[in-house]
Amino acid sequence: MITVSPSPRLSRPACTDWREAWRASVTDPAELLALVGLPELAARLPEDNAGFALRVPRGFVARMRQGDARDPLLLQVLPQLAELDVVEGFVRDAVGDLDAKAAHGMLHKYEGRALLIASGSCAINCRYCFRRHFPYGDEIAAAGQWRDALAHVRDDSSIRELILSGGDPLALATHKLTELTDGLAGIPHVARLRIHTRLPMVLPERIDDAFIDWLSGLPLQKVVVLHANHAREFDASVDDACARLRAAGVTLLNQAVLLRGINDDVTTQAALAERSFAAGVLPYYLHQLDRVAGAAHFEVSDEDALALMDGMRSILPGYLVPRLVRELPGEPSKRPVVARAR
Ligand SMILES: *Cc1c(COP(=O)(O)O)cnc(C)c1O
Ligand code: SF4
Repeated sequence: MITVSPSPRLSRPACTDWREAWRASVTDPAELLALVGLPELAARLPEDNAGFALRVPRGFVARMRQGDARDPLLLQVLPQLAELDVVEGFVRDAVGDLDAKAAHGMLHKYEGRALLIASGSCAINCRYCFRRHFPYGDEIAAAGQWRDALAHVRDDSSIRELILSGGDPLALATHKLTELTDGLAGIPHVARLRIHTRLPMVLPERIDDAFIDWLSGLPLQKVVVLHANHAREFDASVDDACARLRAAGVTLLNQAVLLRGINDDVTTQAALAERSFAAGVLPYYLHQLDRVAGAAHFEVSDEDALALMDGMRSILPGYLVPRLVRELPGEPSKRPVVARAR
C-alpha cells in the first residue's frame, strides 16, 4: 500500500485563522500555571477567579518566563487572592459612565473626538481593567446602534476623529469593521480613524491580509493605539504585526498602565519605550490605574509615579517619554498627573 504524505508546500500552520487562535485561549488558571511551570501556585488561587474570568491567548503565554511567579506578563492575567481585598476608594464603576457607555455605544466627552464602544469583547482579560465588573455584551456591535452613532457623527461637524474602542474593536470580524467604515463614507468632516486595541500584542494573528486590505483602503488618516505594559510583550510575531500596520499607513502609539510590581521602575519603563520604538511604536500615555475594586494591589502612588517620570526623562529622548495621565469622570480630557506646587 502506498501512502502519500502531503506536500510541504501545501501544509499550513496549525492556526491559520485568528479566531481559531482566540478560541484556543487558556481559560483555566491551573492550566496556565502548569504551562509556565508553576503548578504549586494553584493552591493559592481565589475561588471563582475572584469574579472575573481568566482569558489569555497561548501566544502571550509562550512569552512568559518558565518558573517565575513574578513574571510581568503572568501577573497581568493571573487571578490573585489580593483581588478579594476590600480597599477604601476602589469601587466597581471606577470610570463613572459605564452605564452610559453600554446604553449608547458612543461617548463624546472630548472636543473633536467621538469614541465608539465598537465591541464588548477582549482577547485577554487584564486583572486591573476597569471593566472587570461589567464585561459589556457583544450586542453593542449591533448594526442598529452603529446607525445611531454614525448619525451623531454625521450631525456634528466638529468631530474630526472617530475612535473605535471597547472592549477591543479588533475582536470584531473584518466584515463588521467594513460595515462600520462604509457608514463613514460621505461624512467629510471625519479625517481620522483611531483604533484602541490590544490585539496586535496578544493575538498578532488578527492583523491578517483581510484586515490590512480593509485598513489600506480607507480614505482616512489612521492611528492605532496599542496597549503594552512591558518590553517582553513584544516578540517577532508582534514586530511583524506592527510592520504590517505601518506599511498600511498607520501611525502607531502605545498606552500603558502603571502597575506595581510589573512596570513601576525606571529600567522597565525605559526598556518598554525603547522596545516599542524598535517596533515603530511611540509611547503615548502612561495611565494611573483606574481605582476599580479588586485592583488596589496594582496601584502606584502619584509621588512614586512622578519620580519615575523624572527618572525616565533623565535617560530617554523626549519623544520616548509618555505622558502620565489619569482619567477622571466628567473631565474634558485626560488629566495630566503633575507635581503639586509647594
Ligand atoms: C480617552 C478618551 C478619548 C481620547 O483622548 P485622547 O486624549 O485624544 O487620547 C476620547 N474620548 C473619550 C471618551 C476618552 O475616554
Ligand atoms: S485589553 Fe483593555 S479593555 Fe480588554 S481587559 Fe485588557 S485593559 Fe481591559
